[in-house]
Amino acid sequence: METKLLVIKNPESQAEQVRQAADIIKKGGLVAIPTETVYGLGANALDPQAVKRIFQAKGRPQDNPLIIHLHDASEAEKYAESIPEVYYELCRRFSPGPLTVILKKKDCIPMETSGGLDTVAIRIPSHPVARAIIAAAAVPIAAPSANLSGKPSPTTAQHCVDDLWGKIEAIVDSGECAVGVESTVISLAEEQPILLRPGAVTAEQLREVLPNLVIHQAVTGELEQGAKATSPGMRYKHYSPNARVVILNGSSEAYARFLADHGGEGVYALCFEEDVSKLTVPAVVWGSRTDDGSQAHRLFAALRELDKLGAVQVYAHGPSREGVGLAVYNRLIRAAGFEELELSENESESI
Ligand code: AMP
Ligand code: MG
Repeated sequence: METKLLVIKNPESQAEQVRQAADIIKKGGLVAIPTETVYGLGANALDPQAVKRIFQAKGRPQDNPLIIHLHDASEAEKYAESIPEVYYELCRRFSPGPLTVILKKKDCIPMETSGGLDTVAIRIPSHPVARAIIAAAAVPIAAPSANLSGKPSPTTAQHCVDDLWGKIEAIVDSGECAVGVESTVISLAEEQPILLRPGAVTAEQLREVLPNLVIHQAVTGELEQGAKATSPGMRYKHYSPNARVVILNGSSEAYARFLADHGGEGVYALCFEEDVSKLTVPAVVWGSRTDDGSQAHRLFAALRELDKLGAVQVYAHGPSREGVGLAVYNRLIRAAGFEELELSENESESI
């Protein structure tokens, strides 16, 4: 299939390109679109045939439901029922923006979109190009991340080109995504509100509106055998570069000491700016140790860069788990297949 590249920097002055992207979606096609989190692979969420093509293009397991993207929080009533009042309070605080809320679905949402569940995940993105395309298409847009299933999510149009060129009708290029990790996902469809995936809207912020919010155990660890995957995505392998990734927790000095002892062919550091001058192995920098926003922004691009460099073994310096750091850590432990080491701070024990 021929894939069209549409460069949209300003949706107001480029209404024609916005219309082309929206028309493809209205006709049942697939378009990779920029959002403030990551690029999404968009299709008409009400069209089961179009939605099926999303799963095929990505190689995504069919029981892994899609988030639908709307222009305005008030539209949720068309697609969800029994919406609790707190949904609107959350929207006043965090929408448009990187927050996805799971609600009981109405029948108009096809089972293909909801992965067979009786719920629907709804987000109102803030990216002006995404908003313009949703408005022009005048349909809810189902959009998972626009990567091959299992690969790091795309934060540039080039990442979408690398994974999906020739498989979808169009890719919109609007530059780098500001946030860099996918949206925070919470469910309001159960008795107790639950955080299923951390993102740029933090657990701390959400607790100001939802004091009884619980964090699903799989956010910071592996889903226990036999445990219920409240979010089907929890069951699947994610964000994996080709290399084996291990997370190392400890000071910059302990990290540098460990790497001095473990360098070799194909060994790379995935490190913070603060580490780089101390290291004796090749390094990819993924942000500042004290700036979780910079880590989120760079993480997926850094993982893809390591693949391009041919890394075989990657030692990542572990981030904090506070604020947006929880989202960063959640993605990194999956990229690392849950392999994590606590470094000894005692020099004599480091070997
Ligand atoms: P992605 O589309 O790649 O950003 O992934 C969306 C995430 O949201 C996946 O982990 C899904 O399993 C999860 N999700 C979407 N819809 C629902 C839903 N109705 N119930 C629970 N989890 C959902
Ligand atoms: Mg994804």
